[in-house]
Amino acid sequence: METCGFQPLAVIGRMRTPFSEKFGIPRQPSLAPAAVGEAVLAPPFDRDEMVKGLEKFSHIWLIFLFDQAMAEGWRPQVRPPRLGGREKVGVFASRSPHRPNHLGMSAARLLGLSRSPEGLVLHVAGIDLLDGTPLVDIKPYLPATDSPPDASDQFLAAPVQPLTVTAPAPVERFCQQYQRETGRNLHQLLQECLACDPRPASQRDGREFGMRLWDVNIRFRVSPESVAEILSVSFLREPITARPAG
Ligand code: SAM
Repeated sequence: METCGFQPLAVIGRMRTPFSEKFGIPRQPSLAPAAVGEAVLAPPFDRDEMVKGLEKFSHIWLIFLFDQAMAEGWRPQVRPPRLGGREKVGVFASRSPHRPNHLGMSAARLLGLSRSPEGLVLHVAGIDLLDGTPLVDIKPYLPATDSPPDASDQFLAAPVQPLTVTAPAPVERFCQQYQRETGRNLHQLLQECLACDPRPASQRDGREFGMRLWDVNIRFRVSPESVAEILSVSFLREPITARPAG
């Protein structure tokens, strides 16, 4: 195996996102426009001069490492969930995290830039990344050339029917209160993430699922009529710290 031989990739920053676990994250960017987050660029990559002109673009490419897939290595073939988990395709014909070098790319809407004690912050929306994902590059999205009008995709040509999402009144009230207190649009993010049907293809049998958005636990199930019913929302418990032995 030939190795790169150049200097190792530098982590230029980290993502801050609502997603602290993989389950429930949209499978591609822009599927959930309410998935807002921050790309926090750290020194020495946080200089204002390095992003001069970036605000002229509505979207940017976030180039990152699938760090939470590295321990599992890579596979020559994968079963994309979008193909129902039945059909295998080559890893290079997929967007799987389990790929050589574990590099990922997501086009995100750029909402604005600011500065925090941690570094330079790019506010983004429509993201599909775990909280803490390491960033290795940022580039502007160029609609004229990144989106050729004759581009086609014979795998995923059929439109996906989104799930209908329902929530009982207490869940609606929780979301309203949460938005008043945090400014986070939990209601819309929940709707968008569940509409994409986060369930693995092998577990579409009416069982109950749990997922987390920010510091909120959500329980839901999906009926045979493709209705995702939110069963409950609650704050995460305080983290349990291990007791020292003896
Ligand atoms: N848009 C990117 C791409 O095409 O390279 C990512 C697509 S990949 C199918 C998106 C999924 O990767 C998410 O739904 C989540 O399950 C997983 N994921 C996100 N961040 C990750 C991370 N830091 N490490 C491992 N897996 C991650």
